Amino acid sequence: MNEQLRIETVMVMEAKDQKKNTPHVLPIYASSAFGFQNIEEGIEVFKDPASSHIYSRFANPTVDTVAQKIAQLESYGVEGDFFALLCNSGMSAIHTLLSALLKTGDTILTQANIYGGSSELMTKVFADFGIKTTFTDLRDLTAVEHCIQKDPSIRLVYFETPANPTLSCVDIASLVKIAQSHECFTVSDNTFASPALQRPLYYGVDFIVHSTTKYLNGHGNGMGGAIIGKKDYYNQIWGKYKLIGTNPSPFESWLLHNGLKTLHLRMAKHSDNAMALATFLEAHPKVSVVNYPGLESHPDHSIAKAQMSKFGGMMSFELKGGLEEGKRLMNAVKVCKLVPTLGNVDSLILHPASMSHLHVDRAMRIKAGITDGLIRLSVGIEHIEDLKEDLKMALDVV
Ligand SMILES: *Cc1c(COP(=O)(O)O)cnc(C)c1O
Repeated sequence: MNEQLRIETVMVMEAKDQKKNTPHVLPIYASSAFGFQNIEEGIEVFKDPASSHIYSRFANPTVDTVAQKIAQLESYGVEGDFFALLCNSGMSAIHTLLSALLKTGDTILTQANIYGGSSELMTKVFADFGIKTTFTDLRDLTAVEHCIQKDPSIRLVYFETPANPTLSCVDIASLVKIAQSHECFTVSDNTFASPALQRPLYYGVDFIVHSTTKYLNGHGNGMGGAIIGKKDYYNQIWGKYKLIGTNPSPFESWLLHNGLKTLHLRMAKHSDNAMALATFLEAHPKVSVVNYPGLESHPDHSIAKAQMSKFGGMMSFELKGGLEEGKRLMNAVKVCKLVPTLGNVDSLILHPASMSHLHVDRAMRIKAGITDGLIRLSVGIEHIEDLKEDLKMALDVV
């Protein structure tokens, strides 16, 4: 084709697929930029950058396709137009969204019971830019109303339900109502439930964030985050996103797409296994407390039941022998692995006080139920009897 060109030039030139039919499975577009047919097209594209691909920090076909799928899942059955943006981690999704919505002088209202990194981001990063954070128990709606009335700088209510690691649940619709009456944004971290079990947009939240690293990917082989919100805010959020540069790699987005296909199967099995294990642990003489929203003994069981179709794979528990027995249990388990993440197909165990919540203020942590002896379990999709036998064996030896 390029026979008049020298071989060095032919080597450098981009090869193109010549066949006409399209791949059945989403390709990985490993391209940092996208070309234009001519200068006129280039000028048009730059005038309306959201409509085309220019540069992969702004948008990439693999990344966008997966983002659209997540928007579709989170807004399933909800009226209105919604967008999603994928980020390179859950933390970068939270950072991008909050920095696009808030400015110096604003205050975030949240709960002590959230992902350790999220509360640290607020108190250690946003605080330096003059954005304050107030912590309150968001299950106490009177306290929420009181906080917002007292402090007009509160612009945003941020919550997780179920929350990490005590599985406390908040009433999404009621929080949205209070926030809306004071013109505050609501942001829901839906990592623990996933859209397979709970869709906060249905209850009126403005934005959802995800650590897709967890259940949405599901296999523990890629980092990622997502922001989902009403289309009206797309330009505001995307405008910051492309400048901060929190875009993910097409490869990790592609892994996420693979995971999404089995999300409903996995979440059903995670939930059934977790329910069975929580019931088993609650009846065990060596266990003092089990936090699982599916248990009737859980303080937020009724709101969880109203908002979620199943209760998910996350739980935490404490042994009567406290921290020392808990440490022995974590060393004794064989099927459950000691790994500091969650939402994978395999069961993972962790000690929040010395790991995920090590840098969270101890008094605040204990007040929120994250005690020194608390053990967090991300229940996998293994055979339930193997999980029960593993925990039973470990409880026998502690
Ligand atoms: C893991 C996690 C995050 C942070 O996500 P990364 O992907 O680790 O950056 C935020 N929220 C919750 C609930 C999480 O579990």
